[in-house]
Amino acid sequence: MEEQDFGMSLPLSQDSFIELWQTVAAPPIATLSSLPSCNESPDSWKTGEHMEMLQLINDQVLADGFDENLFELPPEAPVKDFVTLPSSTVPVTTDYPGEYGFQLRFQKSGTAKSVTSTYSELLNKLYCQLAKTSPVEVLVSKEPPAGAVLRATAVYKKSEHVAEVVRRCPHHQNEDVAEQRSHLIRMEGSQRAQYYEDPHTKRHSVTVPYEPPQLGSEITTILLSFMCNSSCMGGMNRRPILTILTLETPEGLVFGRRCFEVRVCACPGRDRKTEEGNSTKTQDDKGNKKRKSAPPPDSTSARKLKTASSTEDEDKDVFVLQVRGRKRYEMLKKINDGLELLDKDSKTRTKVCVKQEVPPPSSGKRLMQQGERSDSD
Ligand SMILES: [Zn+2]
Repeated sequence: MEEQDFGMSLPLSQDSFIELWQTVAAPPIATLSSLPSCNESPDSWKTGEHMEMLQLINDQVLADGFDENLFELPPEAPVKDFVTLPSSTVPVTTDYPGEYGFQLRFQKSGTAKSVTSTYSELLNKLYCQLAKTSPVEVLVSKEPPAGAVLRATAVYKKSEHVAEVVRRCPHHQNEDVAEQRSHLIRMEGSQRAQYYEDPHTKRHSVTVPYEPPQLGSEITTILLSFMCNSSCMGGMNRRPILTILTLETPEGLVFGRRCFEVRVCACPGRDRKTEEGNSTKTQDDKGNKKRKSAPPPDSTSARKLKTASSTEDEDKDVFVLQVRGRKRYEMLKKINDGLELLDKDSKTRTKVCVKQEVPPPSSGKRLMQQGERSDSD
């Protein structure tokens, strides 16, 4: 669909768009598993054959024009000791408070339109705008040793993308002159922030020295900013990412770890609201009807909450009402259905009056509604 639209508005660029699409659309793991030798003998990874396979994969990758870094190591290689090695092939994304009780807290920013950074407890997800500062509060239960550092690393959330290093898109990199221009995550407000590229995995990270809380405070605040949108073509390309924050010794021994998802977008407040709503719906929905977010006629009628009563003839405007929570939605829908029914009632008044045998015009309205309901139920 996008392709067509694009082609229609810019017919000359259609070919190059398709080319671009082909380079971004094919998930790396699909390519990997479609190689016959992978499926035939999973045990071959344990033998010497795996070098040949890697070569094969690498050739395939190069032939397809992918970034060869994509496949520098098998994505699910079991690496021992990765609790203590920050440069493990597949970064660990489980929370681990450790002996210093390492925890994160986010400021409560709400979901107003103007908010530039907001965190969802429900989804453990930070929503922020490109290059805007997101304060993250760090708590420990016990003072870590002197020289401890906080490290932030970004990693793709889905297993089919996890092998790929998270980098900024070419467009945003080219706009930037900073030495760390390819790094997605920045730590702001500290001259002591250091940017790393792991020599083996090529993963990016940034550290700042851990600073104990100021007198009278229990938290230390670090300032993160994300330098690409989640949608950036040639970069994250709509693939969700996690940010891993670790408390470490200067040598990289991990004391504790916390992870959260990040979405960098134009409207953090709106997107948080939508995604929280969707997640609540998914939990509530027992598969009876799927709608609400994309309302078919049924729920459209629920959303146009008419102020019926006396103005029903003049008031033909349709209003959309956002409702949080299924219960409330059902309740308001009932009310609206009732009002719609009343509208219908007043048009077929005479017919109902006969059934009811109660003719009074104004006070009869309510009675008529009830009569009609029980009839139709
Ligand atoms: Zn970008």
